[in-house]
Amino acid sequence: MGTTSNKSVAVIGGGITGLTAAWRLHRAGCDVTLFEKSPQVGGAIVTTERDGWLVEGGPNSLQQTTGIAALLGELGLTGQRAMASTAAKKRFIVRGGRLIPVPLSPAGLLVSPLFSLRSRLRVLAELLTRPRVRTTDTSLANFVAAHFGREIVDYGINPFAAGVYAGDPEKLSARYAFPNLWQLERQYGSLLRGFRAQAEERRARGEATGVAPIISFAHGMQTLPRALQAALPDEAVRSGATVTNIIPGQPWKIIWTRDGTVETSEFGAVILALPASGLAQLVFGTLGERTLASLDHQPHPPVSSLFLGFRREQVAHPLDGFGALVPAAERHSLLGVLFSSTLFPGRAPDGHVALTVFAGGSRQPETGRLSTESLVSRVLPDLRTLLGLTGDPVFTHHTFWPKAIPQYNLGHERFLEPLARCENQHPGLFIGGASRDGISLPDCVQSGDALARKAAEFAGGKQS
Ligand SMILES: Cc1cc2nc3c(=O)[nH]c(=O)nc-3n(C[C@H](O)[C@H](O)[C@H](O)COP(=O)(O)OP(=O)(O)OC[C@H]3O[C@@H](n4cnc5c(N)ncnc54)[C@H](O)[C@@H]3O)c2cc1C
Repeated sequence: MGTTSNKSVAVIGGGITGLTAAWRLHRAGCDVTLFEKSPQVGGAIVTTERDGWLVEGGPNSLQQTTGIAALLGELGLTGQRAMASTAAKKRFIVRGGRLIPVPLSPAGLLVSPLFSLRSRLRVLAELLTRPRVRTTDTSLANFVAAHFGREIVDYGINPFAAGVYAGDPEKLSARYAFPNLWQLERQYGSLLRGFRAQAEERRARGEATGVAPIISFAHGMQTLPRALQAALPDEAVRSGATVTNIIPGQPWKIIWTRDGTVETSEFGAVILALPASGLAQLVFGTLGERTLASLDHQPHPPVSSLFLGFRREQVAHPLDGFGALVPAAERHSLLGVLFSSTLFPGRAPDGHVALTVFAGGSRQPETGRLSTESLVSRVLPDLRTLLGLTGDPVFTHHTFWPKAIPQYNLGHERFLEPLARCENQHPGLFIGGASRDGISLPDCVQSGDALARKAAEFAGGKQS
């Protein structure tokens, strides 16, 4: 057991949230120790490079928000970014078995075959919606239907929710899953007017008004967690170290195991950057109480990410876009497919193309659990129809996520309340990450930053 300084902070969980928190604490002059149960850091971010293919098992890209740009600058990673190709601005949604480009402007929407004329006119009429303060939450599907009608839910929001959450808009909470839309309705009534007003506010502040650029790195997404680890002192990162108990008090005691050995360490403050299942298993104190056990009920449907490589001539479709999302109404076996080798360079050997198929999620959990062989034979017929594929893949890599993405479904507050209660009861404890603060990588980086600020303030480090 080492000596404890007030400024010492334990960060438990070495995904992007915990790594960001640890890095920002280190910059703030705190003595930080990060515990990660896997042999390597990164959590959901896993990149594999093999035989000229670059495979992302988890996130394939991230949006370069202001917060992400700042982090990359601090880590000296700006020059290693790979910007999404301009072709990737085009996105497709499947309708009637065909890939239809998503309209990118109001003018584009007016002539788009993706929606009926009636729905397109209804979208324009949304501009007249008055502000509305709802007293109860509603599903994302109901929320969007009230603004734009049912067809926009079925062929716009349904595939979008599958692409972001692997979720089902009939179950997702409008308030928690898409808080920006909820707020825009309160303030402006019309979501379209709200988007315009937000863009004008950003312009007035001198910020970029368009959608943040989509980026990755030449060696894939793993570059970011690896750089965060490298920026920390060697002794700050304990990988292969599973935290089993935390004993509140001053100092906090952390009981952790590595290679069958149990150890105890002491800290001035503790950050939990764990997935819901990790929070649920954590024992608080010495009496075996799992204070956050209810978090185990937060839905995390299984998802399979299936990376498939083909020779270019095997695919008739030009793959001239980001990829295609598949609405549930189309009754296909996949949630969507990324055109990975179009999106970023260097993902496939010369003369080849790479696709990343997502299957499972809230919509079809049983498909998400299929073995590699069954999954390939389930999705190939759909890909043949949609993309004009012939023959079998020349390269396959399957990543299975038994508990992929936390679903912010209706009733989500029942998972937020115990987290807030736990923090209130235990000064010096700070909880964040994808199960609470938003699921995207920029949300997680923001969460890590906020956790670090609060912990540094508590532990008395200087503010960066
Ligand atoms: C298939 C998939 C695709 C995605 N695509 C995108 C995308 O394209 N863009 C995007 O922005 N986001 C995407 N996301 C979401 C995003 O990747 C995650 O929300 C984010 O990485 C979660 O980060 P986190 O640090 O909060 O949690 P995690 O990454 O889950 O990290 C938590 C860490 O805690 C560790 N841990 C657990 N228990 C213990 C313990 N007891 N002791 C010590 N360590 C413990 C775990 O091993 C893990 O490393 C995707 C997610 C998935 C699964």
